[in-house]
Amino acid sequence: MAATPDKRLQPATLAAQAAGAADAHTGGVVPAVHMATTFARDDDYAPLVPGNVYLRSHNENVRVAERLLSRLEGAADTLLFPSGMAAVAAVFRTVPNGASILVQSQIYWGTTAWIRAFCARRQITLHEVEAADTDAFAAACAAHRPAIAWVETPSNPWLRIVDIAAAAEAAHAVGAQLVVDSTAASPVLSQPLALGADIVMHSATKGINGHSDVLAGALCVADGESEIWRMVREDRDMAGAVLAPMEAWLLTRGMRTLPLRMREMSRSAQALAAYLSDHPRVEEVMYPGLPDHPGHALAARQMQGGFGGLLSFVVKGGAQAALQAAGRLQLFHRATSLGGVESLVEHRHTIEPDTGIPEGLLRLSVGIEDVGDLRDDLAQALGQ
Ligand SMILES: *Cc1c(COP(=O)(O)O)cnc(C)c1O
Repeated sequence: MAATPDKRLQPATLAAQAAGAADAHTGGVVPAVHMATTFARDDDYAPLVPGNVYLRSHNENVRVAERLLSRLEGAADTLLFPSGMAAVAAVFRTVPNGASILVQSQIYWGTTAWIRAFCARRQITLHEVEAADTDAFAAACAAHRPAIAWVETPSNPWLRIVDIAAAAEAAHAVGAQLVVDSTAASPVLSQPLALGADIVMHSATKGINGHSDVLAGALCVADGESEIWRMVREDRDMAGAVLAPMEAWLLTRGMRTLPLRMREMSRSAQALAAYLSDHPRVEEVMYPGLPDHPGHALAARQMQGGFGGLLSFVVKGGAQAALQAAGRLQLFHRATSLGGVESLVEHRHTIEPDTGIPEGLLRLSVGIEDVGDLRDDLAQALGQ
């Protein structure tokens, strides 16, 4: 391990140098992969290296990735999980039976679906609220006094923006923990903990890894000594939802270019959103970087360096027209997920037909290809 770098270093510097991670044994400028599942003890039966006993709790590649993420997110501590959903589940498993929770409506479908089923079998009362409506969120907090309030901003696939500082205030007024799914923003574009959130959740499968080849999740916390964090940490240790060493190593490798990738993806998404806004075959574009987006002023305040690579637009002519346009795209892969270097297109209504998603909505995850090539592809697919 190199010396811990200066706290004032910018995200691009921290990421490029993996916050000082290296291999002291060989002088390698990147960390080695540590695959050992168990660690030896000396003749007095003390661990040879203090803190290293067994892989479920102890792995250097996981620690390196967690430290880097903590630095980027401004967190006291970070825990990695084998998927984003495992991180979501880790938070809600701390809620006692009989309590109530508050969750933003129309967010990532996997989160909503899992939480509904979980609450039903655990006698936890679930309240869903449109959290982009600050007053409605505050009223729901006051009325239901939830143990946890969960928001996702920008939300997927609606691109709604939640006022994190206001949500934190409303949650804390009733003793709730505010958890923010910040997957679409990544730690580069938004730091919810600095705005008052208690825990940030990421699907690190998305922008943080960025290369569509690692499934991982993360929780980053403002107070590493809090009761909820103690429960989350103990449960990961004992129930074993841990990330494997190779995945953690790949995650650190991916994060080295995170600031660079998020900047480029945001710039290209902004240009494509503007192009699509003027397109005669397009009914509506949802992108917080557009001045007429209802959350634009707020997003400009609480995000830095761009508005992310995720955008949705509604094709005129409904499902048939949207599916036809998606089918004609040559560069955008027709695939779920987001945040990778390659651009993706998704017809969300096919996947979640009964959730109010417009039939003509296409969601784009804008990658780092040449933006002119991406625009030309959209132009030929829309027939213009
Ligand atoms: C993908 C995603 C998740 C779930 O993460 P996995 O890594 O797929 O388990 C949660 N929230 C959002 C916003 C996502 O995009």
